[in-house]
Amino acid sequence: MGYRSRGNKPLTLSGVYRIFDMPIYYGPFEYPRRSDNWYQGSHEPIITKELYEKAQEHLKRDKIVRENREFAFTKLFTCGMCQSGITAQEKYKELKDGTTAKYVYYSCSKAKDRNCPNKYIREEELIEELFKVIDRVDINELGMRMKLEEEIKRFNRLQRLATKDTPKYSINEDDVNTREYAKYVLREGTPLEKRELMGHLRSRLVLNNKKITLLSE
Ligand SMILES: [Zn+2]
Repeated sequence: MGYRSRGNKPLTLSGVYRIFDMPIYYGPFEYPRRSDNWYQGSHEPIITKELYEKAQEHLKRDKIVRENREFAFTKLFTCGMCQSGITAQEKYKELKDGTTAKYVYYSCSKAKDRNCPNKYIREEELIEELFKVIDRVDINELGMRMKLEEEIKRFNRLQRLATKDTPKYSINEDDVNTREYAKYVLREGTPLEKRELMGHLRSRLVLNNKKITLLSE
């Protein structure tokens, strides 16, 4: 649209978002920033409060959070098409009933090929794919068995600490099915636990149009 900054540079996208987010254009301002001390400006507003709120609604509708959050599976995968790393982003989508759903997408970072055509994958789909990997990988060969036994002991220890009484979800170390446990961590674990678990497969996981393959050595 040809708008320029005070320094006569084209506005950046993040700059535009910042402007939309500032209530000072209809009156109030916060000082110092993030202090939650709000003042009513004595200047003449250039927009109405209603317009400001309307803009907020639009921004929320399809907001992509670009901050670098902790995602469970970044850095574990390589792009099968250009060998770049795989990155993640969160996307919020307004549903018809007015609630907002959060999706996490993983996609090629395109560091090595700007035009890499590899498809993005939703976290749920990625976990389904990892289940298949867990089903077919030789866990003993990968040294995951020992790691998982440690994890199970740790889990039971934490359960005992947390509950004092008989743990509700104690896992029997002898009976445990390693693959099922791995899936359990993928489903219920924290991002760190998931990363630790899959970390054993690092550099072997390749993402290719929503399919995960193991890089053969
Ligand atoms: Zn790629």
